Amino acid sequence: MVSAMEIYQLLPKTNCKKCGVATCMAFAVGLLRKEKKLEDCPVIFEPKYEAKLKKLREMLAPLESASETGLVIHDEKCFGCGNCVVACPVNVANDPTGCALGHGPTSDKVILKVENGVVNCLNPKECRRFGPNKILCNACTVTCPSKAIEFV
Ligand code: SF4
Ligand code: SF4
Repeated sequence: MVSAMEIYQLLPKTNCKKCGVATCMAFAVGLLRKEKKLEDCPVIFEPKYEAKLKKLREMLAPLESASETGLVIHDEKCFGCGNCVVACPVNVANDPTGCALGHGPTSDKVILKVENGVVNCLNPKECRRFGPNKILCNACTVTCPSKAIEFV
């Protein structure tokens, strides 16, 4: 997972406040939390920062594809084994006749489901990481043999 410091290193570091916050470090934290966009910083679009802007876009791309829970599925790494599907405690609780028995989902209330050989996130708001009472569950990430699931 990318850190605020890694983002900060690529910013102009002028603390000009044109992005609406006091420092470039605060802007880096805002980018990480998806409260700010690169477009909020006019300075990074100056020609001399072109290479850094390119790196920032690459660094921030996984954040943009993350669901509300911060869950990112790297399709190119997933080979559809289903480990995460039967490990997810919400899948197990919501699907007593499928995931709870170690089988594929039989309910549409599951979060993770393999479709066309790749896992999909169907109900991200059901994830234990979502909402005010979130729990830092990692059952899906630790059971994935190819590190195809990540939280950012
Ligand atoms: S973090 Fe936990 S609840 Fe959320 S999808 Fe992964 S295993 Fe399921
Ligand atoms: S994300 Fe990982 S554990 Fe889940 S189906 Fe894909 S390869 Fe298997």
